[in-house]
Amino acid sequence: MTIMTEVVRSRLNLRDKALLKAEAYVGGRWTMGDTSGRSTVVDPSDGRIVAEVPSLTLAEIQRCIDQAYALQRSWGASLVKTRSAILRKWYELVLENADDLAAILCMEQGKPLSEAKAEVVANAGFLDWYAEEAKRINGDVIPGARADQRILVMKQPVGVCAAITPWNFPNGMVTRKVGAALAAGCTVILKPAPQTPLSALALAVLAERAGVPAGVFSVVTGDAPMIGAEICKNPKIAKISFTGSTAVGRWLMREAADSIKRLSFELGGNAAFIVFDDADLDSAVEGAIASKFRNAGQTCVCANRIYVQSGIAGEFTKRFLDRVAGIRLGPGSDPATTQGPLIDHRAVEKVEAHIADAVGKGASVACGGKRSALGGTFFEPTVITGVKPGMRVLKEETFAPLAPLISFDREEDVIAMANDTEYGLVGFFYSRDLSRVWRVAEALETGMVGVNTGLIANEMAPFGGIKQSGFGREGSTRGLDDFLNLKYLSLNGI
Ligand code: NAP
Repeated sequence: MTIMTEVVRSRLNLRDKALLKAEAYVGGRWTMGDTSGRSTVVDPSDGRIVAEVPSLTLAEIQRCIDQAYALQRSWGASLVKTRSAILRKWYELVLENADDLAAILCMEQGKPLSEAKAEVVANAGFLDWYAEEAKRINGDVIPGARADQRILVMKQPVGVCAAITPWNFPNGMVTRKVGAALAAGCTVILKPAPQTPLSALALAVLAERAGVPAGVFSVVTGDAPMIGAEICKNPKIAKISFTGSTAVGRWLMREAADSIKRLSFELGGNAAFIVFDDADLDSAVEGAIASKFRNAGQTCVCANRIYVQSGIAGEFTKRFLDRVAGIRLGPGSDPATTQGPLIDHRAVEKVEAHIADAVGKGASVACGGKRSALGGTFFEPTVITGVKPGMRVLKEETFAPLAPLISFDREEDVIAMANDTEYGLVGFFYSRDLSRVWRVAEALETGMVGVNTGLIANEMAPFGGIKQSGFGREGSTRGLDDFLNLKYLSLNGI
């Protein structure tokens, strides 16, 4: 039986109450698991418990993997038109239920309702995209090396995939991974973040309605190290698609080494956001606000360091501070809110530590800098100036509404500073000089570059990082490749 507290029932006025599930979805069955182990889901806007989800046992996880493995051959051999039609139906159902999905997301994650709805709708696009791409899993015919040889290359599903997702985009991270895996013909076991399992489970309700066969897609909840260890060592799992921190990515890579699994990792970021003297200043300010403060600064592609060329630093700072002053803190469910709470107290402690470190080394707080009077995990949007090398804000991902402003003089200096990080997810810059646009875009050591924009993700683009931000791509025509094996056929005697 689903365990939802009265808080949820009174708070969420869902059109379709069946979307609110707090059971795991295993082998096509909704289950509270074999034991009484539970983990709680909390509304970060007030700290109240909204649901309890089961902590599945190792035996249940193994059974789930066995079921997915048993179905792999038939799902992999299903007609691409069948898979495409199911994904298209899932896409339509997500759009039809976008308001309910957004309300669930907003409650468990805390982001403003408008952002939650935008996440749901934009990322439904991945289901639509992969519904189309499923039809184009084409191979190659290549001239042979000898007169009697022809070379054929076919693409086949890699096998059972495990997907592990973080809490910051509880809906979007699911559609982009599961959509691609199902399109490729892989069965999937998803482990959502414990803070935000309800969005993933609501998506599973809709996947079931769309016709995803029982056991082809499961959602498991429970102890992450136990599930992670099993996924890494179980030979029936062929691939792990992980989005989360670099630290956990390293651990998974080590654990998966013995069975040489296919991996794709979307890990942490430390994005530099650079504004050159020749930039359109209004547009740069808007881009910086969107990039820095979306989801209260809790996105992997957030501007973590904002570099402004000295000629415009004063004016940029003034306009940026004006815009930050307009950010309205509050619970995500309030339509006036533009910044919700942070996910938990650990996140609050981290941003406080980054501010204290910077101030201790000579930076100044231009606005914010402390917990909000709203209490809980609300944190004031913060800008610090006078940021210098050696401060933690430049090295570590803050993942909070903290904008460090750094002034620079020369293009080559800012490129060196931007690249001085182990991360390589994304870099942003604003410039109207075409030569500079090419130079800087080529010089940034990142998997993605946003030029004259602060937002870059959509299903048509290959999202992904380099360096310690991971490898593999999500979205675009390349998004399926990570879920497919190539098979080369040498045809001879022709
Ligand atoms: P996290 O702590 O790495 O957790 C991510 C997921 O991994 C959660 O479901 C977590 O579950 C699980 N996990 C942790 N240890 C595990 C283990 N030993 N085995 C299996 N699963 C394990 O990251 P987070 O705090 O949720 O998310 C924030 C991070 O994600 C940031 O670094 C951000 O940059 C990154 N991120 C990257 C992208 C991208 O596309 N590059 C997108 C979004 C977020 P538990 O919480 O139960 O441990």
